[in-house]
Amino acid sequence: MKIAVLARTVRVWLKRDSGQYWPSIYHAMPSPCSCMSFNPETRRLSIGLDNGTISEFILSEDYNKMTPVKNYQAHQSRVTMVLFVLELEWVLSTGQDKQFAWHCSESGQRLGGYRTSAVASGLQFDVESRHVFIGDHSGQVTILKLEQENCTLLTSFRGHTGGVTALCWDPVQRVLFSGSSDHSVIMWDIGGRKGTAIELQGHNDKVQALSYAQHTRQLISCGGDGGIVVWNMDVERQETPEWLDSDSCQKCDQPFFWNFKQMWDSKKIGLRQHHCRKCGKAVCGKCSSKRSSIPLMGFEFEVRVCDSCHEAITDEERAPTATFHDSKHNIVHVHFDATRGWLLTAGTDKVIKLWDMTPVVS
Ligand SMILES: [Zn+2]
Ligand SMILES: [Zn+2]
Repeated sequence: MKIAVLARTVRVWLKRDSGQYWPSIYHAMPSPCSCMSFNPETRRLSIGLDNGTISEFILSEDYNKMTPVKNYQAHQSRVTMVLFVLELEWVLSTGQDKQFAWHCSESGQRLGGYRTSAVASGLQFDVESRHVFIGDHSGQVTILKLEQENCTLLTSFRGHTGGVTALCWDPVQRVLFSGSSDHSVIMWDIGGRKGTAIELQGHNDKVQALSYAQHTRQLISCGGDGGIVVWNMDVERQETPEWLDSDSCQKCDQPFFWNFKQMWDSKKIGLRQHHCRKCGKAVCGKCSSKRSSIPLMGFEFEVRVCDSCHEAITDEERAPTATFHDSKHNIVHVHFDATRGWLLTAGTDKVIKLWDMTPVVS
């Protein structure tokens, strides 16, 4: 059974005897649908709409009928994310109105709200600690602690040069993954063992969706380039170094172009400053002419390294820690079914694809 939200309709796709999926339900909505959350245990479907409303339905056991339960007037404009939390009977949501809100799914009452710094497009919740993670278009991630009727700002942080497009929380390792329009994924060690932030570079376009396979510790990231990247998160990765500043190349001592005094003294034309991605040293182009992938630092693609680092990196260290797959559509939404190992991707081409990931996610 699959649920698709297309424009103003909600369709429930059931696999027929022929092996093909056909919609069992075709439900018209008053406003275009923008997001949804489905809870399989209760068969509760929460759908966010363009007009700011969240509509809740219960699906029948045979998935042939959906019964409206209630509507929440949650936002002033488009609902961007919705998340139903069964354990607390809460409906969490974010909107185009830059509000985060939570409602009681029993009473339908609004419990509280928080103004985000920009429109949010990532929303995750940790039931145990009641921490909510909100990623927004400004690139900020905000962590709030929710009580029954109020919330406290715990922290906010930034690591991306573009907006946050997706968030994914691993409650076991207590790690948060953020995907961004800057093409990267950052793994934040929220559990605080070391407070590290590790960058994963494996996309040539915006990262649009993330999913985590807890049992195998693999992260699945999908991008606007159609790429599905499966990251092995069992390997110990290192943080990228801080970029060092220097007036001259830290290898050959040639002055960079802004070091006028040294340029004058040595009568040499200044060079452009580059940085080795492995050691962080400020080097000139001539001393960093080679490229290498550094998978253990999250660079699955080749990046600039200085000549000495290039020599030092072994073939073993160059072994990829991710696998790359082409979905052949611009992915906007994913859902991973861990029990079957199936990945569903929905694209801007209005096509829904179902992938058997068992050969790679195992
Ligand atoms: Zn140099
Ligand atoms: Zn180096």
